[in-house]
Amino acid sequence: MRIGNLSGRLTLFTERGAVDVEKASEGRFGADPQAAYQDWDGLRSWAAGLDASSVTAVEFDPADLGAPAPAPAQVFAIGLNYRAHAEEAGLAAPEGLPPVFTKFRSALAGPVGTVTLPPGGHTDWEVELVVVIGRHAERVAAADAWGFVAGLTVGQDLSERIGQLAGSAPQFSLAKSHPGFAPMGPWLVTVDELDDPDDLELSCAIDGETVQHARTSDLIFSVPALIEALSGLVPLYAGDVIFTGTPAGVGMGRKPQRFLRHGEELVTRITGIGELRQRFVDAVPEGA
Ligand code: ZN
Repeated sequence: MRIGNLSGRLTLFTERGAVDVEKASEGRFGADPQAAYQDWDGLRSWAAGLDASSVTAVEFDPADLGAPAPAPAQVFAIGLNYRAHAEEAGLAAPEGLPPVFTKFRSALAGPVGTVTLPPGGHTDWEVELVVVIGRHAERVAAADAWGFVAGLTVGQDLSERIGQLAGSAPQFSLAKSHPGFAPMGPWLVTVDELDDPDDLELSCAIDGETVQHARTSDLIFSVPALIEALSGLVPLYAGDVIFTGTPAGVGMGRKPQRFLRHGEELVTRITGIGELRQRFVDAVPEGA
């Protein structure tokens, strides 16, 4: 199942086009995309039984897609979860649970859009697999963890490196939460649609030049391991979002360093899920 957020409404994406869930279910399910996770099993069984030829499906513009989980109670993000990325950051790969921070909910955005670069010119890219939780999870064992996942989507953990790394207790969460710094989408793909959800190809490219390319089988903490570790410490709520960490190839780790510039377009892909497309612009000074 591919499900998400079209113009703020819960939408099923079928081969024939976009199906509005509230209308097609005659009101059994509401239009709020975030509410879908409160009755995820019900939604899945309704969608599985739906005769797609009997409901209205429409074409759509990807620019009208929103985040598939636009208002999660919690957003977790994982640092240093690929060895080669820890190396390029000049840091030791974590022995236990990698560093965990948040991307504030206000940073969430849909898969296509324009992002204003904060001043300082140090905004970096980080392709990431994003997990959305499908049911309340506490002290879940890794072996059971996929059963608590609603689905997977593509994310960018855009990061302003000056603020992220400055000071004795660096501002990871704030520097990674400027408006539009957590685009995700284009939709949520359920795990059954993927050949191997533990081995997905992910990449991103700036104006067509590939800068990151890896597989999620290289994660130090796999999705099940992350769910076991996080749910052992805090409850995970249905609809929560986990950014699972980025592989090597970020701009900060390059020699010379490279950061996103005005006019550049970043395309972020995970094979079997889809792509994000962000255009970057400098802030226009007030009064200009
Ligand atoms: Zn990241």
